[in-house]
Amino acid sequence: MKGQTHEVYDIMIVGGGLAGASLAISAARMGLSTVIVEAHAVDTFPSSQPERVIALSHGSRCHLESLGVWTEIEKLGVARIRKVHVAEPGSRGEVWMHQAHADIDALGYVVQNAHILSAIYATIPSEITVLASACVQSFEAVDDVMHVSVVCGDTTKRMACRLLVGADGAGSQVRRLSGIASRGWDHNRFGLVASVCPILPHRNVAHECFLVSGPLAFLPLDDTRYSLVWTLTPRDASRIMGMEDNDFLRELENVAGADMRKALGGLAETGARALFPFEFRMAASMTAPRIALIGNAAHTLHPVAGQGLNLGLRDVAVLADALRKAVTGKRDVGSAIVLEEYRQRRMADNLAVATFTEGLNAIFSNDFLPVRLARGAGLLGMQYLSPARDWLMRCTTGLAQVDLLDGGA
Ligand SMILES: Cc1cc2nc3c(=O)[nH]c(=O)nc-3n(C[C@H](O)[C@H](O)[C@H](O)COP(=O)(O)OP(=O)(O)OC[C@H]3O[C@@H](n4cnc5c(N)ncnc54)[C@H](O)[C@@H]3O)c2cc1C
Repeated sequence: MKGQTHEVYDIMIVGGGLAGASLAISAARMGLSTVIVEAHAVDTFPSSQPERVIALSHGSRCHLESLGVWTEIEKLGVARIRKVHVAEPGSRGEVWMHQAHADIDALGYVVQNAHILSAIYATIPSEITVLASACVQSFEAVDDVMHVSVVCGDTTKRMACRLLVGADGAGSQVRRLSGIASRGWDHNRFGLVASVCPILPHRNVAHECFLVSGPLAFLPLDDTRYSLVWTLTPRDASRIMGMEDNDFLRELENVAGADMRKALGGLAETGARALFPFEFRMAASMTAPRIALIGNAAHTLHPVAGQGLNLGLRDVAVLADALRKAVTGKRDVGSAIVLEEYRQRRMADNLAVATFTEGLNAIFSNDFLPVRLARGAGLLGMQYLSPARDWLMRCTTGLAQVDLLDGGA
C-alpha cells in the first residue's frame, strides 16, 4: 500500500462526530496538519440526525470552553440543571442533589447534539482538511508512517499520517481493522427519545426514575420542555413508538408514577420520537502501533448516568495533552511513547466510569425483592449521608474526573 509521493499528515481522524471534531480543533491549534475522514456529508449531518440531547458535565463544559466552542453553544441554547432528583416509583428512597452542594454554576448542561456539532464545526480552522462522505478502506504502518487507503465517492485516495485516530463510534472500523478486540454486550434495551412539555414549570430540575425496564430521565431542555430518555424492552419500544401522541403521554405519566405526575402537573405535548439501541462495549486497548481510539470507538456505555460523551471528551483532553508534549519536545506524534502515555492516563478513569455505569444499571434494573429493598434503603441513606451523596454528585458532574485530569497532567 505504500504510495509514491503524497503529503504525510500529522494526524488523520476517522469519524468527525463530537469526539473526533473536537480533537481536530486542539490538534490544529498546536500547528499539527490534520485531516478528518467522515462517513456522512458534514454540511447536513447535524440536522439529518434525530433530535437528541446530551447532559454535559461541568468538566466537559470547561473543556469546550478551552476549545473556544462554549460561547457558540450557549448562543444556540443551553439548559442548566440546578437540581437532580433520583427516585424509584413506589419506593420511599430518593436522593436530591443541589448545585449549591457542589459549589458550581450547574450540575449539568443540557445541549442538543446538533448544536454542539454546529458549534464545533463553526470553530474548526480552515487549515483542517475535512473529507466528507468518505471511509477508510485499509491501513498499514510502515516504519514511522501510517499508509491509509480512503474511499471518497468513486475514487480511492492513498494518504499517509503519523497518527491515525479512531473516533468512528461504537462499531469502529479503525478498531476492527487494527485487530483491537472489544468486549461487551447488547443490553437488549432501547432508549426512546422525545421532547415533552410539562404543565408545571420544570425549574431546571432533572428527574431520574428507576423503572424495572431501566431508567427514565427527564432533562430540562429549554424554558418549557423536557427532553426524555425512556429505557424500554424491544417489545415495548415498538408498541410505544406506534402510539398516538395522547396515548403516549398518558402511558408515560402512568409509568413515571404518582409523585412524578404531581411534580410535572401532567404532560401536555410531545415532539417526534426516536429510538436508540443500548449496548456496552470496551476496546481491549485504546492504542495500537500509530493508532489511538477515542470516544465511543474506545468505550460505549449505557446512558444511565449520562457519561458517554463526558468520558470521550476526557479522552480528547488527555490525548491532546500528550500530543502537546510531543510537539514541544519535537517528537513524532504517533510514536509509542506518546501512545503509551495516553493509554496509561485513560485506563483508570475509563474502567471506573464503565464499572460505575454498568453497576448502577444492574442494581436498578433488578426486580429481585432483596435487591429492591436494599436499593430503596440505599437511596434513602444516601440522601441523609452527605459524603455518599456528594461522592455520587462528583462522579456524575465530572468534578471527580477534573481532579483526576489535573492530577495526571
Ligand atoms: C439516548 C442517548 C443518550 C445519551 N445521553 C448522554 C448524556 O447525557 N451525556 C453523555 O455524556 N453521553 C450521552 N450519550 C452518549 C453520547 O451520545 C456518545 O458517547 C457520544 O455521542 C459519542 O461521540 P463519538 O464522537 O465518540 O461517537 P459518534 O457520535 O458515534 O460519532 C462517530 C462519527 O464517526 C462517523 N463514522 C462512523 N463510522 C465511520 C467510518 N467507517 N468512517 C468514517 N466515519 C465514520 C459517524 O458518522 C459519526 O459522525 C447518550 C447516548 C444515547 C444513545
